[in-house]
Parts: sequence; C-alpha cells; structure tokens
Amino acid sequence: MQKDYLIVGGGLAGLFFAHYLEEAGKTFVIIDAAKENTASKIAAGMFGPLGGQLSKLAWKAPEMIETLVDTAKALEQKLGSKFLHLMPVEVAFGSVKDANDYACRNKNETLNEHLSEIRNGSENIIAPYGSFEMLKGGWLNTKLFIKTYTEYLTNRHSFENKTFDYSLLVQTENGWNYQNQLYSTVVFAEGIGALENPYLKDALPFKLCKGQVLTIHCEGLAEDRIVKKGIYLVPIGENQFRAGATYEWDEVNEIPNELGKQEMLEKIKALIHLPFYVLTQEAGIRPTTKDRNPVIGKIKEFERTYVLNGLGTKGVVRGPWLAKTLFNHIENNLTIPREVSIDRIKRN
Ligand SMILES: Cc1cc2nc3c(=O)[nH]c(=O)nc-3n(C[C@H](O)[C@H](O)[C@H](O)COP(=O)(O)OP(=O)(O)OC[C@H]3O[C@@H](n4cnc5c(N)ncnc54)[C@H](O)[C@@H]3O)c2cc1C
Repeated sequence: MQKDYLIVGGGLAGLFFAHYLEEAGKTFVIIDAAKENTASKIAAGMFGPLGGQLSKLAWKAPEMIETLVDTAKALEQKLGSKFLHLMPVEVAFGSVKDANDYACRNKNETLNEHLSEIRNGSENIIAPYGSFEMLKGGWLNTKLFIKTYTEYLTNRHSFENKTFDYSLLVQTENGWNYQNQLYSTVVFAEGIGALENPYLKDALPFKLCKGQVLTIHCEGLAEDRIVKKGIYLVPIGENQFRAGATYEWDEVNEIPNELGKQEMLEKIKALIHLPFYVLTQEAGIRPTTKDRNPVIGKIKEFERTYVLNGLGTKGVVRGPWLAKTLFNHIENNLTIPREVSIDRIKRN
C-alpha cells in the first residue's frame, strides 16, 4: 500500500515533521543513518528569543518559542518522557557599551514579555556590568528526545535505521518508489547529508559551521538557569553543564580539537568564579546557509518532493515552526514566508 510520506533524515527537522504527520493521521517512514555525531545529537539544545543583537527579538521568535513549547509538550505526553526544560537564560554583559545599549532599547509589550530589566549578575557569575534575563528560554534534551521518539517510531515500523541510497528512488505516476515501497511525497531533511543529495544540487546554499561543546562538572553553580557571556552553560543535572559552543567556518569537520577546548575553557573562566573540570568534548557540523536562514519548500524540478533544511545554529527553536509551516504548505496550501522559502534561492 502506498504510504503518504517518505522522510529522509531523522534529526530534529525530520522528527518534528513526523510529529505533525502523526497528529494528522498520515502514514510515513523515516530513513535515517543513525550517526552518533549529528548536529541534532551534539546540540546543547538551548533556546531563547534573541538573534544577533542583545535588545532585538529574532525573526518570529515569540511564535517559534510558542510552537516549540506546544510541540515538545505534546511529544512529551505522547512518549511519556521529559525533554523540554523551561528556564531563564541570564546574559551577562560583556562591556559597558552592551549594558548601555540594552538600557536604551526600544521597549514594547512583546519585548518586555521576553527580556527583563538590567540586574546584578547572580551568584558565582562574573558580571561586572550587570546582566539581564531572557525570560522565555530553556533547553531541549535533544539526545533524549531523539532516542525516545526514534524508539517509539521504530516500534510502529515508521523508522528505518539505514543510509538512504538516492539512486534507488524512482518516480512513479502518483509519487515515488523506494525499495518496492510506494510513497506519495518525499521530504528531504538530511542536514549536512544533503550535500550528497542529487535532487537538491544547488538548491541549498550551505556555508557550514563546525561547533564544539564540552560537558563540565561544576559544584555550586545554580541549576535553575542557563548563564551566558560569549559562551553558555546549560544545566543538565547532577552538577553537570553543557558549555558551548565554538563557531568555526574554515576547517569544517566533526573532530574535536585542543584549540576549540582552550577557547571554551577561557570563556568559561571569564564567566564563572567556580572550579570545574571537563567530562566530555564533542564536535558536529551545523547545517548553516549563506544568509543564515532555513530553506523549506517544494523542489521545483520534481513532483511531490520537498526540502526541510538549513536550521543552522537554532534548530531547536526553528525546527518545530519550520516543520509545521512546511506541513501546512503541503497539506493546506498555506504560503511559506519568503525569508525561509526555497523560492528565494537563486539557482545556477
Ligand atoms: C556543537 C553544536 C551545538 C549546537 N547547539 C545548539 C543549541 O544549543 N540550540 C539550537 O537550537 N541548535 C544548536 N545547534 C544546531 C542544531 O543542532 C541544528 O540546527 C539541528 O540539529 C539541525 O537538525 P537537522 O535535522 O536539520 O540536521 P541533523 O541533525 O544533521 O540531522 C540529519 C539527519 O539525517 C541523517 N542523514 C543524512 N544523510 C542521510 C542519508 N543519506 N541517509 C539516511 N540518513 C541520512 C543524519 O544521520 C541525521 O540523523 C548546535 C549544533 C552544533 C553542531
């Protein structure tokens, strides 16, 4: 029997999309190579409403956070697991100028809902110029979410652990045939794996970004908040914190190195007064695009074929909103905003 969807890639993008399919009663299979160091598994999972500037909300941030919270809560209920942790993100100012600029920000109701007034840094934080809080932030335990949802889908025969072979995908009159299973629609959500995807060719203007993260042990640091100044510390329980990340645009590979570790250690020492030691170091590659915006929508050249990629540095907060937007585009004919649409990409 023909299934509704084939999803290639079971990272945050593919899994959030699968959730919306399940909610709508659609049939699907995810094919995922189950690599250990994918961006989604390495991610610290942090989210908040800010983009590049301290006093300006990122594009559609409130809507994206709301979608993330609703989606993660529904998934937690479905899977009987807890992976979303809502908590403030305390940002320590790095200079007087940053503090002054923040003090002079253009306030409005939405901004006030998301960003606190300036305060003294909390205990054990090095914050000579003070700090503020992103009030609606937190982190998603991505490893736990992926493990739990993948197991659940595997038990329902909706998840296959194997590498997708593009040469075996054959177009049919009503959709696609992959290894003798028929599908109406294909959604490509392979993160950096899309570099191998012949259906996408120049449709994805990647400028990839390597990231490294540490897990540290630190006693005495509050575990009810994420703290940030050049680096973030995300409390993951039992005095352990995820510290990250590096942003490396030149030598992009998945190998942790000493340079990245030293950079992060220095930043941690500039953020907290407390002693700590390193438990693990990991590296991964973010699927970042040249204009830093995601890419979703229909691949023009092929019928019933879509892409969900370019989640970049913010897969947690963007993932659910993008998956929902793509779902509504395919199923309900809603328009994809140009900022994230594949249609904005100039092809060769
Ligand atoms: C160090 C680091 C820290 C980060 N921290 C954060 C953070 O704190 N907050 C945040 O929001 N974001 C963070 N990110 C970014 C976030 O991880 C990404 O935006 C997001 O995970 C991308 O998800 P994805 O599903 O598009 O890609 P991926 O995670 O790469 O998933 C793609 C999946 O497709 C599979 N795949 C690829 N090719 C094939 C194939 N041919 N056949 C079968 N399967 C295939 C892969 O195995 C993988 O499972 C971080 C990233 C890194 C590297």
